[in-house]
Amino acid sequence: MGLIVQKFGGTSVKSAESRKAVLGHILKAKEQGHDVVVVVSAMGRRGDPYATDTLIDLLREQGGKINPKTQDLIMSCGEIISACVMATYIEAQGVKAEAMTGFQAGILTTEDFGNADIIKVYPEQIMEKLKEGKVVVVAGFQGRTEKNDITTLGRGGSDTTAVVLGGYLKADLAEIYTDVPGIAVTDPRLVPEAQFIPRLSYEETIILAENGAKVIHPRAVKAAREFDLKLRIKSTFDESEGTLVGPERSDLIVSGISLTRDFTAARYEREKTFSDDYVKKLQGLGIDKVIYEDDAGQKLVLINEEDKDAAGSLANELNAEVTFLESMSKVTVVYKDTVCSKAVDEKIASSLSQQDIPVLAKKVQTNFSSYIVKNDLAEKCVKVIYKAYFN
Ligand code: ADP
Ligand code: MG
Repeated sequence: MGLIVQKFGGTSVKSAESRKAVLGHILKAKEQGHDVVVVVSAMGRRGDPYATDTLIDLLREQGGKINPKTQDLIMSCGEIISACVMATYIEAQGVKAEAMTGFQAGILTTEDFGNADIIKVYPEQIMEKLKEGKVVVVAGFQGRTEKNDITTLGRGGSDTTAVVLGGYLKADLAEIYTDVPGIAVTDPRLVPEAQFIPRLSYEETIILAENGAKVIHPRAVKAAREFDLKLRIKSTFDESEGTLVGPERSDLIVSGISLTRDFTAARYEREKTFSDDYVKKLQGLGIDKVIYEDDAGQKLVLINEEDKDAAGSLANELNAEVTFLESMSKVTVVYKDTVCSKAVDEKIASSLSQQDIPVLAKKVQTNFSSYIVKNDLAEKCVKVIYKAYFN
């Protein structure tokens, strides 16, 4: 017996049928004697009536500018609707429940509308309701500023709500329910046979999440590590154990392959080597602060499309030629820090060259490496690396 936070994503609360599955998990935890705090996302995806993007589209229909504060206010409604619906489902089963907005749940954030950070949680109201024996259903993805304006937390915001609430409430576990049975070595949408991983460390999960494995948001995993709160990522739609994320790392040599698409790359060529000072400048320009290198030692950084001019001026300053490569993807492979990264890289490089996938540049590190390839070869690249280690 203890306190459990359960978070249910958009696909889990999407339909009456899926909400019944959600209800099953909540009631089960309650029957086991736990105090239960539920965090819900908005229902479904763009086009579904109360999905976040559908609500934003309502503001877009007039064609002009949108006030970010107003946009956050309307965006927060999707999760509030989900919370009210789920609380009502629970009460209909004779279990006491209470729906709350992020504001009522005591979540204080910065004023960065659309991408606010949680500063602090005042958990008293939730604790009071738990003491009354109620299941508390909190609207995810939102909070309020010092001035009581409503904010939203950006992509994956409900994951962060769940973890941070868990941290402040000293929960024993945060369960992140989604549409797949845990974290797989790679996105099961790309590789349907991808193996699900029973256990992963915070660090492994953060690298995967920061490089495109959208199953859990990196901010949430970082918060979990800070609070020393264990996470279990699992499916709403089956009874499997899912993936436990905690201090212990996985048993796999390669524990993840993730993909991020649609980058612009700036490739710098220079006769002389770059001094440390220049390397720092290049690094500052890259969106992920990483400098990739090709076999000839040319340096490449991933930039935002709108930073092309800045990349050009930097080339002048560095006495270098810059070439822009559009539609690039980054494939990141996470592995044990005890294995020889050079050996892993050699195996990956030879598998990719055998399949005629050119790597434009790469960065090899102690526990992960990233490969820059063209968008149209990215999925094939993931599949080839998966095959190299899991067949
Ligand atoms: P939710 O709405 O529940 O938050 P998301 O769509 O944000 O769900 O995350 C779940 C999705 O993450 C899965 O459907 C899957 O396609 C994708 N995904 C990407 N990488 C991975 C991975 N390594 N393991 C599992 N799922 C992954
Ligand atoms: Mg998500």
